[in-house]
Amino acid sequence: MKVTDVKVHLVRSNRNTVIPSPWIFVQVFTDEGIVGLGDATNWPGGTIIKQSIEELSRFVIGENPFNIEHIYHQLYEALQQIGQTGAVIAAISGIEIALWDIVGQAVGQPIYNLLGGSCRDTVRFYSHAGEPEECARLAEKGCTAIKAYFPGGTPRPGERINIPCSITLSEERIALAHMQRCREAVGDEVDIATDVGARYTTSAAIRLGNRLEEIGLLFYEEPVGPENIDALAKVTAAVNTPTCVGERRYTRFGFRDLIAAQAVDMIMPDVVRAGGIAETKKIAAMAESYYMQVSPHNPNSAISTLASIHVMANIPNALVLEYVDDEQDAAWRNDLLTDPPEVENGYLRLPTKPGLGSQLVMKEVEKYRFEG
Ligand SMILES: [Mg+2]
Repeated sequence: MKVTDVKVHLVRSNRNTVIPSPWIFVQVFTDEGIVGLGDATNWPGGTIIKQSIEELSRFVIGENPFNIEHIYHQLYEALQQIGQTGAVIAAISGIEIALWDIVGQAVGQPIYNLLGGSCRDTVRFYSHAGEPEECARLAEKGCTAIKAYFPGGTPRPGERINIPCSITLSEERIALAHMQRCREAVGDEVDIATDVGARYTTSAAIRLGNRLEEIGLLFYEEPVGPENIDALAKVTAAVNTPTCVGERRYTRFGFRDLIAAQAVDMIMPDVVRAGGIAETKKIAAMAESYYMQVSPHNPNSAISTLASIHVMANIPNALVLEYVDDEQDAAWRNDLLTDPPEVENGYLRLPTKPGLGSQLVMKEVEKYRFEG
């Protein structure tokens, strides 16, 4: 089998706050009629990644799609001088996911069976909530873990930027009361987590982490930025709430130092940002060797969710997968796929069809095509 073409589709998403950021879907075509589907979404924008995929396609066309490891390294090496992170690594991930989809379809097996089989029958997920009422609604629907919005850290009057910022006593009381109300809204049986988005100084992050201990959080995400491992390690050593980062680290090399330094308690690779399905499995294996769990970042399309489910089904140290609740996302999210992810009793079902387990519905893709 040989790859004959690579196509990119930009599709409208609901992420339009600063710069419109479409979903970026990849189709890899073969001479045997099998079409692989991948997701390369990152934000802001989309045209940078689209162009990267189109330029990288010359390293894929003509190759045997079974040689995923070889093709990944061809692409990775090709980017040596421009940098192997950010937008360009999303381009590699989109192609890599589509190759796994081709191989799965060719052999008639879901991707997790190609990775070593499944360690679980379903995948646990968490959804997002703003107010305590929303936490209660999600818990009512069967959701077992919720990432609750963390108030605070907004610029004060006259300030154009305030990152990193300290936190005033009144802000801290408001934020803690909010988190407490979220906890009370769901009781002790549902996990609550929060993401402070690397807004605070290291000392403020430590103080907050300690105050949050009474809420009993599943995790405390990006207490400080992911760029400085020493600062992260300082927070992690000082607080008992489990810390994590990962959405802004790329490939096994971006996670290696973080894991080896034990700078966080768990990691959050994004299958689309980390380098794809095999790369995320490798990152998870490194984490496993330090007795760390993996809770992947996954805020985008139904396709990246499917790719993440295959990885989470396979890796032994899976904790919980980020999942955009259907009712909170663009109404057409699931219409784009023949077989979108399915939730049952608060867990994501494992796809059973070959490959990713789903195809693009081109009629819907045309309807929601992103025009810039
Ligand atoms: Mg985050």
